[in-house]
Order: sequence, then C-alpha cells, then structure tokens
Amino acid sequence: ATEIRLAARPHGVPTPENFDIVDTDVPVPGPGQLLVRNLVMSVDPAMRGRMNDVKSYAPPFAVGEPMHGGVVGEVVESAVDEFAPGDHVLHNLGWRTHAVLDTNQVAKVDGSVAPLSAYLGVLGMPGLTAYTGLLVSAEFKAGDTVFVSGAAGAVGSLVGQLARLKGAKRVIGSAGSAEKVRHLTEDLGFDAAFDYKDGPVADQLAAAAPEGIDVYFDNVGGEHLEAAIASMNLHGRIALCGMISLYNAAEPPPGPRNLLQLVVKRITMRGMLVSDQWGMREQFLTELAPLVASGEIKYSETFVDGIRNAPDAFLGLLSGANTGKMLVRL
Ligand code: NDP
Repeated sequence: ATEIRLAARPHGVPTPENFDIVDTDVPVPGPGQLLVRNLVMSVDPAMRGRMNDVKSYAPPFAVGEPMHGGVVGEVVESAVDEFAPGDHVLHNLGWRTHAVLDTNQVAKVDGSVAPLSAYLGVLGMPGLTAYTGLLVSAEFKAGDTVFVSGAAGAVGSLVGQLARLKGAKRVIGSAGSAEKVRHLTEDLGFDAAFDYKDGPVADQLAAAAPEGIDVYFDNVGGEHLEAAIASMNLHGRIALCGMISLYNAAEPPPGPRNLLQLVVKRITMRGMLVSDQWGMREQFLTELAPLVASGEIKYSETFVDGIRNAPDAFLGLLSGANTGKMLVRL
C-alpha cells in the first residue's frame, strides 16, 4: 500500500517537497470494519487551506500524517452484511491506496448509474456546491445575467450550465486560457467568456456584460470580486464560494476597494459552505442525474494516473492544469 503524508507546511505556493510518498503495509480491518481499495480520488482547492496551521471550517492536516479527502473505492474485505466485496463506496480517506473504515464512514455508490468518478465531481461535492450556491446563496432567478469565475473548473462549469438551463438572460465565464474560453462558449453554451490573463478583469467583464450582471458566483476572489462589484446591477447578489487567487498568498491581500458600491447598489454578498447543504443532496441528485445522463449537462474530467502523482495533480489543480474536475486514478 502507499499513502501521501504532509511532509511540511507550505509557505506560499506548495512544492513536491511538502509531500511524502510512503509505502506501508496494507491496513488490517478490525471487527465490523471494511477494507477498501481506493480507485479514484479527488484533489480539491480547499486542501490547500488545510495544509496551513490555521483554524478553519475543517481542521488542518497534521504534519507527518496522511492527508485525506474524497475518494471512491472498492470493498475488498467486509465482515458486515450490508457490504460485500466488489461494492463501490464513497468515503473521505483519500491520498492512500487502501483504507480501513467503519460502515458509518462510507456511502455506497452505483457505477451503473454514472461513472464512479462522477460521484467526486458533477454528481458529488462540487456539483452540490454549484447547485446550492447558485440557487440558494445567489438566489438565482430566470432573467438574471450571471457571471462565474473559475468557469472551466468543476464547480464553475456546472454553475454556468445550470444558469443557462434555468433561463438566465446571459451567462459569462472567466478562465485562464484561450482553450478554456473556447470550451465555455463552444461546448458548454456560455454566452460570453474571457481569459482573465488577457487584461484587466474589470474591462473584460464590462465588455462581456454591457448591461451589467445580476449574479456573481465567486470562485476566485481578489481582482475578480472587485470587477464583479463594479459591473453589478441594482440589488445584485454575490455568492462567495471560494477565493482561489488568495490561497497561496503568504499575507492577506487588501480587499475590494469598491465596497461602497454594496451600499449604493444594495448588493447582497453571502458566503456559502456546501457542508451546510447536505439536506439538498437528494433534490440535487434527482434533478441532476438525468440531465447528466442525457448529456444536457456536460462535464469534463482531467485524470492523473497513480498515487505517486497525486501531489502533482494537486499542484496542477492550483495552477489551472485541469478542465473540469481534477482526479487521480489510483
Ligand atoms: P476547479 O476545478 O475550479 O480548479 C481550480 C481552478 O482554479 C484551476 O483550474 C484554475 O483555472 C483556477 N485558478 C487557479 N489559480 C487562480 C487564480 N489566481 N485566479 C483565477 N483562477 C485561478 O476547482 P473546484 O471547482 O473544486 O473549486 C472552485 C472553487 O470553489 C474554489 O475556490 C474552491 O475553494 C471553492 N469550493 C468551495 C466550496 C464551499 O463549500 N464553499 C466547496 C467546493 C469548492 P484557470 O485555468 O481558469 O486559472
């Protein structure tokens, strides 16, 4: 078996030296436990925060200990009736090839309904984030013009498509390459998209949204947030989902300089955490699974092969190597 441990806490942009790749014995399940061989694991931007020693909504990873996160695996040993070898389960002990789990730590997933990887992306945590962030936090309604940053990523690509499907007036996305911009407008049905590296975000957004925006779904923070506030219409709504442009910052950067516009335009800005929204998971899956199966909602996945390359997958995620969900095949 192999596992990835946090070797040292990064200062700024993480490097391969922050990770230890360690070969171990296959763990032995106790009474009532399962042994699971992990098949496909998620790397997520939030893991960057957990590499720091700061209090947040999830506790930091411990130095010298294996990291963890969402993963789908196959049961290889089971001493309980509810699970049999061959069953596929979703659980949180990723960053390792094998895991021992109590039955209350796993949820069965069905590979015949959707590919196992989808339970980590479009039908999983990022999908529920997009769905509840748009519909609940941003209070999206038909006729809104929606801007989403990180638009070619796991969360952002679904936000834009959902807004389009549910009657947005106009959907605009930003992403970090010409190919991603093409993907948004040509494959995913965005009305407009731009590469934020091409010039000031405020100028590019204003050009893409001549009549302003009603909703901003923020995955990025920083310059994007300030630009979105500048383009907001009266009574606009901002869902704060993440701020990936700040995750590697050693010092907190200054906030948007134009917050007075929140007053003038009566803008609502609301933070969200998907963990508050598990109650909507059934509704989300009932609505999304058929749309994904029919192809009305498209999703991309970027795969990296092998547990030893998991740190590279994570570092790649932070620098935009992924289109759609970034995953590691173990
Ligand atoms: P993505 O699939 O969107 O991957 C991250 C992307 O961020 C990269 O592909 C890259 O794309 C982009 N990026 C990296 N650095 C920058 C930068 N400096 N400026 C702009 N874009 C950058 O990840 P997820 O879909 O999993 O997550 C998206 C956001 O949602 C993150 O902020 C994450 O923390 C947040 N999130 C929040 C949750 C919550 O409960 N609040 C739950 C899940 C996710 P590019 O090439 O376009 O730069």
